[in-house]
Amino acid sequence: MHLAVPKWFDASPYTHQVAADIVRYGPIARTTLAQILNLSQGALSRITGDLLHLKVIEELSGNDAPKQNGRLPFGFSKQQNDSSERRGRPLTALRINAKERTFIGINVRGNSALAIAVNALCEPLGEAHTIEFSYVSPEELSTLLVEPIKACAADAESAGLPRPSLVGVSLGGHVVDNQTVTAAPFLHWNGNAPLARMISEYCGVPTMLFNDLESAVRHECWFGAGVGVSRFALITIGAGIGYSIAQDGEPINNSETSYGTATHIIVDPEGPRCYQGHIGCADCLGNDSIAEQYSELMGRTCSFEDFVVDARKGLRQATQLLNRTCFRLGVLIATITNAAMPQKVLVGGESSFLAEMSMELLRKGVESYRHSQAEPVPIEILDDNWINWGRSAASSAIERYILG
Ligand SMILES: [Zn+2]
Repeated sequence: MHLAVPKWFDASPYTHQVAADIVRYGPIARTTLAQILNLSQGALSRITGDLLHLKVIEELSGNDAPKQNGRLPFGFSKQQNDSSERRGRPLTALRINAKERTFIGINVRGNSALAIAVNALCEPLGEAHTIEFSYVSPEELSTLLVEPIKACAADAESAGLPRPSLVGVSLGGHVVDNQTVTAAPFLHWNGNAPLARMISEYCGVPTMLFNDLESAVRHECWFGAGVGVSRFALITIGAGIGYSIAQDGEPINNSETSYGTATHIIVDPEGPRCYQGHIGCADCLGNDSIAEQYSELMGRTCSFEDFVVDARKGLRQATQLLNRTCFRLGVLIATITNAAMPQKVLVGGESSFLAEMSMELLRKGVESYRHSQAEPVPIEILDDNWINWGRSAASSAIERYILG
């Protein structure tokens, strides 16, 4: 048996959707929200009245109400003939009731896991709790997670908030039904692992599993750089190359994200050969390939970290490889933009800092494969830290909990 996945409240699907929009755009004035949803004030008030009654959202007024809305949909402009503002009513704003619920986000990577407690707006409630392990079975991993989950529950309690409602666990693997890990090469598990059920049983909190990249995309859709952007791409660089796309606030093509569909897109006809024999595919943006390329340039064995240290020092060969890598990343961004036509491209992953070290070459790479008349594509480099991957796992749990 497994614990049923709870939801915050029971209402029409549209009411759940409005709650989700208040998460994304809040704090937000009623008039602006009605415009975004294309609803009359009366229709919106009936829905928000229910949500206020259920304590899912709260109303800020007077000095508590912010002068500005939160993020708004891409390209959205507020209608100026806003009658309530014209009449000079006091400003009020709606926001999710962040303190009503807590969640735990866990990211498992390599031989370690990080857990963090968050409120309903995915804001951390304490420090992250990490564990290290060598080879573990699914059952052993579930047992090891008991302590960090307890510590997170204690963080929620010390903040004066309720016990966590749901745990979201993300990992770099293939997950089915948010319950079962069917492939996670880095964990070396054999066959299917019903990890969500095991964690729920050992830790006494309902648990859902997510692919880590999909969670990262969903986090950006709900709480980050993708709020209000109808279509955006996330490219991650690090141990591997990740690519996912979100449409209308949801990652699409979920089932294939974990396979790394952008890894073998050609980015440089004169690039190095990958393990599958391609010349100059995007695999050359990964840490291992960069270490190999750098070793070849230096004529001795160098690690990825050696390369980063030397690049920061401005060493000639390292700078050369950094520039080449950023140009190639730019080509990958252009190719993806040409094919998928996103409004925005986010670059994340543990090596995303490389992009910031040579933005000029990255832009050149983008331009060399974009039509000269094409709109420049906004690129945002995400600050990658492990806590954000934990928060991403929590975001996915929050999404399920709010949408039901
Ligand atoms: Zn390849």
